[in-house]
Amino acid sequence: MNSLKIKKNDTVVVLSGKDKGKQGKVLGTIPSEAKVVVEGINKVTCHIKPRKQGEEGGITQREAAIYASKVQVVCPKCGKGTRVAYVIKDGKKARTCKKCGAEL
Ligand SMILES: [Zn+2]
Repeated sequence: MNSLKIKKNDTVVVLSGKDKGKQGKVLGTIPSEAKVVVEGINKVTCHIKPRKQGEEGGITQREAAIYASKVQVVCPKCGKGTRVAYVIKDGKKARTCKKCGAEL
């Protein structure tokens, strides 16, 4: 079982691709695919077909999952994208910022 260093509700910054440099909140993670879904990032257009007669179809946008390796957690303390380190604190695993050591 893979585990991701990125968790739901983290703020992350995109490292590559068309959304490079953008930040967003993690809406969900897919550990089995090592992917995350980030608010406002990697938007794809979906066409909605009318299901009933007389109903209008339309176009909507939603976020598609991107590889977790393409994003970094933004540290709330130093405000930068950072790699995550794990430390054992009070017998529990805690995530910390590799740059400033703040707990994430
Ligand atoms: Zn930091």
